[in-house]
Amino acid sequence: MDMTLQFQGAARTVTGSMHVVRINGTTLLLDCGTFHGRREEARQRNSAFPFDPASVSAVVLSHAHIDHSGNLPTLVRQGFRGTIYCTHATKSLCEVMLKDSAYIQERDAEFITTRHRRRGLPAVEPLYTEEDVNATIPLMRSVDYSRTFELTGGATCRFEDAGHILGSASVALHLKDGSKETGLAFTGDLGRTGLPILRDPVFIGDGQDTDTLICESTYGGRFHARIEDMGKQLLEPLRRAFDRKAKVVIPAFSVGRTQELVYVLHGLVTRGDLPAVPVFVDSPLSVNVTKVFRQHPECFDAETRAILQAPEANDPFGFSRLTYVGSREESVALNDRPGPFLVISASGMCEAGRVVHHLSHSVTDPRNMVIIVGYQAENTLGKKIVMKEPEVNIFGEPHALKAEVVVLNSFSSHADRNDLLAYVRRFGASRLKNIYLVHGDLDQAEKLRDGLVESGFRRVHIPARGDTAPLV
Ligand SMILES: [Zn+2]
Repeated sequence: MDMTLQFQGAARTVTGSMHVVRINGTTLLLDCGTFHGRREEARQRNSAFPFDPASVSAVVLSHAHIDHSGNLPTLVRQGFRGTIYCTHATKSLCEVMLKDSAYIQERDAEFITTRHRRRGLPAVEPLYTEEDVNATIPLMRSVDYSRTFELTGGATCRFEDAGHILGSASVALHLKDGSKETGLAFTGDLGRTGLPILRDPVFIGDGQDTDTLICESTYGGRFHARIEDMGKQLLEPLRRAFDRKAKVVIPAFSVGRTQELVYVLHGLVTRGDLPAVPVFVDSPLSVNVTKVFRQHPECFDAETRAILQAPEANDPFGFSRLTYVGSREESVALNDRPGPFLVISASGMCEAGRVVHHLSHSVTDPRNMVIIVGYQAENTLGKKIVMKEPEVNIFGEPHALKAEVVVLNSFSSHADRNDLLAYVRRFGASRLKNIYLVHGDLDQAEKLRDGLVESGFRRVHIPARGDTAPLV
């Protein structure tokens, strides 16, 4: 029987990460993320799997970001009963993130249904509910980094730190089918050396021969500004905005980017660089996630561990002008609060969550500012803001985009072109039989492919969704 790999998500795009490994009649999934994009298309893709979820025996989860983990409750809702393998911190994060995701989907469905009713349109159902999440968590089994463990179907697996978010992993799989054996590595989302808080990425290619590599390509054709410039890049627009009493909205994933922003703002406050303006982190999730961060010091770099051991005043996840907003009422109160202030809110691509409300209350005023610090997928509200479209739809209503839009590129928690090329070169062009570039828009994947071909790699593919390849 053949061993095959099939790409069912994050193929020529950056969301919905999901790859199917078939071996000995067993089906394994690498990631099970939600797809983000046009509302209807997203709903359709996230609710219908191209295989029977009950036939999947295990999921190997690279990290907790919702575009990698967010569709697990749908998989369980539709019959999956196998095991979900991930690192300890990923499990802790998923417990809070998937609940939050269910909550957001239930609230958004309610909100849209209310609007629909007024127009005589049908009610909208959430993708999944908290109940589905409660059925998912017990299926998660967490394991240490750097430890080889058995999966079903004659496969073994190992996680190494990907240095991308707390608990993030690259995955090494060793697959065996009769006399055939093969090594498959999956980068997951690859981080950057020197990112605040996290340890640096560990190369996944040590310890076994890799025949096939699935590599992310989010920034396959771009170079990031230096990590050391994060503070400087943020300070200049913030000063300008606060001078004109602006509300500043920074859309950010609740996990990773938010803690990173708080860490950098903490540095600016400590140095006395930041004007005395209130900062709000508005996400019911952020308080819990920050707690999870504190529970997993094994994922921290030496610098953060040292700061954490210092007194409360030096807490890198909080400072005196920072308020974590928990309740919905407090969040709504921010809508009418006069500037200047800064609010960091999720989701990172402005597709759901409280940030959508903050944007609907701020984008029409030219005094205000939206700072984009993360990758925005095609067709998301965040992408439309980056493109500075004169009018954007928010909750189905047109809003004039008059607020100043600032796009910063030092905050990425993804490897850039140089990092990716250097990483893949370590496998050796003569060793790797096939490279599949995923998790990148087509132009970025093509640029990375060209760079890898120039480096001597021969078989570099950019699979489309649904493509199947033999594992040899
Ligand atoms: Zn990620």
